[in-house]
Amino acid sequence: MAVTTATRTKVLNYVGGSWVESKAAEWRDIVNPATSEAIATTPLSSAAETGAAIEAAAAAFPAWRRTPTEDRIQPLFKLKMLLEEHLDELSRIITLENGKTFGESKGELRRAIENVEVSCGMPTMMQGYLLEDVARGIDEFMIRQPLGVVAVITPFNFPGMIPFWFLPYAIATGNTLVLKPSERVPLTMQRVFQLLEQTGLPKGVVNLVNGGKDVVDALLDHPKVRAVSFVGSSPIAKYVYARAAASGKRAQCQGGAKNHVIVLPDADMKTATQIIGDSAFGCAGQRCLAVSVALTIGEAQKTFRDSIAEAAASLRVGNGLEEGVQMGPVITPQSKTRIESLIAKGEKDGAKVIVDGRNTKIPKCEAGHFVKPTILDGVPATSELTDTEIFGPVLSLVHARDMTEALAILERSPFGNQASLFTSSGSAARRFRYEAPAGNIGINIGVAAPMAYFPFTGWKGSFFGDMHAQGRDAVEFYTDKKVVIERWGEEHSRKF
Ligand code: NAD
Repeated sequence: MAVTTATRTKVLNYVGGSWVESKAAEWRDIVNPATSEAIATTPLSSAAETGAAIEAAAAAFPAWRRTPTEDRIQPLFKLKMLLEEHLDELSRIITLENGKTFGESKGELRRAIENVEVSCGMPTMMQGYLLEDVARGIDEFMIRQPLGVVAVITPFNFPGMIPFWFLPYAIATGNTLVLKPSERVPLTMQRVFQLLEQTGLPKGVVNLVNGGKDVVDALLDHPKVRAVSFVGSSPIAKYVYARAAASGKRAQCQGGAKNHVIVLPDADMKTATQIIGDSAFGCAGQRCLAVSVALTIGEAQKTFRDSIAEAAASLRVGNGLEEGVQMGPVITPQSKTRIESLIAKGEKDGAKVIVDGRNTKIPKCEAGHFVKPTILDGVPATSELTDTEIFGPVLSLVHARDMTEALAILERSPFGNQASLFTSSGSAARRFRYEAPAGNIGINIGVAAPMAYFPFTGWKGSFFGDMHAQGRDAVEFYTDKKVVIERWGEEHSRKF
């Protein structure tokens, strides 16, 4: 999809404190998913251009790591104020390039800001610990030191939030950074980096390289990159994890998902319907924490099916910038085709399409990539859909005999990003929390997204690595521990 660059706004790279136009041979159109209108063009930067950004980050590291933590967080306080000030402008950019509603864009930016706020506590979070007299006259302590240059690679579905799961922690702990956003949604970070430039960060501490696989591979192979934070689909997460590890890097790679919710008959069905509907269809189902399978138990099979079908059919779908629109388009025409063919596959496998969002045309947005909310009832366990991430506004309904059978279905899933339960029973909730094989658990919650001061804890095929994004895990991930044993006293417990 190369374009004549003269006709479109070009997305730039930000390297060593300067905005640079890529010399890439290939450029991609950035398309508004609601209208198919091209709004900018972005380069697929080269390995050499990526190398230049890594060198800029490496050059900035020695001075940045010696900057007191208290001083390193001052630009983050400024960044918080700038993000607040530009919230509406940034939200509009997210909606234009990603398609989600303006309200959803604002919501994701609030989560981004929350991570900046938490990182401002770095002088406390980065502290080590000390014990005097581990032997007579000998003291021992642990300190944390930054790693060096770190790389961050992000997906299309949260252009404003996901980079902030990493960036503020990485720089507050004293690292320097190269970020590669998704080539489908580079405009939000372009604007965020213009704001970062106003915060007084020294040149080279944060760098932005736009592109695709070539940039990722260059980041994974470069000897000066010490750690890689990745979010995207599971096959790519696994690839990034393996390739980063092969060159001795630390890696945290968040992958795809297939999230289950169990609805017990004692749940408050009205609330459950609203919350599960928002989880399944919000952001057009393009959330890694979107509920994708609802397992109903007992009479919830009928009550929940009827109420969720009514809610799904009544959602207002359209251009996310329009007042009152509750769900926007999916990201590309290819996504729409893939989602619609998976719905057809489910139908062929024996499921009944009780709400059908295929072949949607939205007035004034005829060229947009819309799929309306869709519900498949009775998806058989043998269907390909059972384990496939659809990443669209599609909810599968499956009936289970009891909680034991429902939990066994979760156990068989290759993913473990989120699992939720709707109930009014404390003991059912406790059992679920205890046994559910997923890292983010919701009890009467539809999108169990951890606050910034908790880790984002995907399990199984949804995460490759040890330390997660956000909060204390981020501090662990972006620092090396060093243990120091000192003797200054005159007395010895050993004889020499
Ligand atoms: P993606 O895997 O296609 O792309 C993610 C990043 O990897 C992008 O920056 C892209 O340029 C890069 N990339 C793509 N193909 C590559 C290749 N062959 N080699 C090297 N790099 C490559 O993901 P996406 O479509 O942008 O995002 C959607 C996916 O992300 C879904 O699977 C979703 O579940 C997942 N996701 C997971 C989380 C989580 O927290 N677990 C959060 C958000 C999204």
